[in-house]
Amino acid sequence: MYFIFYVLLLVLSYRVKLSWSLVLSGLISFFILIFKIKSVSYETVLFILFFNVIPFITEKFRKNFNAYKFRMRTELESVREIYDRLLQADKKQLESNLEIERKMQQVSSLYEISKDMSVCLAFEDIFNIFSSVLKKSFRFRLARLVLLKGSKDAIDSIYEIELGRSYAKVAPDNFDRELIDIVFETQKEILITSQEDLPFLRRLSVIKSFETLIAIPLVSEEKIVGILYIENISKIYFENFMILSGQFAIELQKVILYKKVQEMAITDSLTEVSTRRYFLESFRGEIRRSMRRKSSMSFLMVDLDYFKEKNDKFGHLVGDVILREIAKILKSNLREIDMIGRYGGEEFSVVLAGIDKVGAFQVAERLRSSIEHSVFKAYDEKVSSTISIGIASFPEDGVDENTLIESADRALYKAKEDGRNRVE
Ligand code: GH3
Ligand code: MG
Ligand code: MG
Repeated sequence: MYFIFYVLLLVLSYRVKLSWSLVLSGLISFFILIFKIKSVSYETVLFILFFNVIPFITEKFRKNFNAYKFRMRTELESVREIYDRLLQADKKQLESNLEIERKMQQVSSLYEISKDMSVCLAFEDIFNIFSSVLKKSFRFRLARLVLLKGSKDAIDSIYEIELGRSYAKVAPDNFDRELIDIVFETQKEILITSQEDLPFLRRLSVIKSFETLIAIPLVSEEKIVGILYIENISKIYFENFMILSGQFAIELQKVILYKKVQEMAITDSLTEVSTRRYFLESFRGEIRRSMRRKSSMSFLMVDLDYFKEKNDKFGHLVGDVILREIAKILKSNLREIDMIGRYGGEEFSVVLAGIDKVGAFQVAERLRSSIEHSVFKAYDEKVSSTISIGIASFPEDGVDENTLIESADRALYKAKEDGRNRVE
């Protein structure tokens, strides 16, 4: 019986790898068997063995359980880690979706703005759209638009845009001139993202406090016609500001060219008085106004005397100078409300608003006399000239454009016939 227990004990110790105390208890029971200690009963041996085995079985169980717990914890942690990563990826995806959405909104709003600007033909309209978008969609301290008149030293006007304040025209100041000089030197946009990359800072004497600055030259027909700059604009707006201002620059160029074409259509390039077409349009308007108000109005046809001879003698270039100078004198002897146009090659037409025949004679006489007493310096020549003038007055000589012109023409012919340098 003891032997069977002993074998069982060995098998058990092999199976569960029992430690020394178990082996010891085995040895005790072995000795009990060998020396046949009868006083120790079979139950006592069993009892000893049992109490030695239990802690090891529980220890083994605890170890297994701990290992299991550890394994489960690491598995759980790795699952949690994966979950966190997924969560983060999801967040990033959401953020990038929002960013894309934001960018798309900005692009579409920029597209809308450019559409709005593209239908405008006046500078004020384009500037209003530009400044309201700037105030609404960008964070900055101050934006300035400096428009130039022909050269970098001739500032035409300055517009300021500030958040919460509508734009205002201000007088030119020194800071603008320094910045204009720099833009003219570099001939391209200046991008200052921090105080460090500001080699020009020392030259900008007035403002030194800005963190960021963008200055963009506005170009039309390969000439810088203005400068747009913005101070302390957040870096996140840089890209969109460049797009918006690029659009604004294109629109500004369009407006400048449109104005030029318009001026070309209404202003004679040599004499800088109205073209015949524009003059006749204004003349018709003046006739309608005189009719409505029942007021007088006079029309003068002015023709240079013996001008062909002048051309033949001094050449066409000198003739051109005489024409230009005579136009200037005529203009300077008229009021703002009067109109003057180049009717033909060396013929000018004048409308004297609200002036009757008597008054028209006085004005015409003044014009004739001023030209007679002028000497025109052209190249190396000093030339004088005279003019003849025919007058037609509304309403006595005609109530429409054609009859008034015909009547003035007849009077002019008479002035020529009577010896020129005369008013008829
Ligand atoms: P009249 O006293 O009868 O008016 O004599 P005129 O020589 O002025 O008249 P005419 O019509 O015979 O000649 C006009 C001249 O004006 C002919 C042309 O050479 C000249 N002319 C017309 N347009 C221009 C111009 O743009 N520049 C110059 N230099 N000459 C012009
Ligand atoms: Mg003529
Ligand atoms: Mg003539």
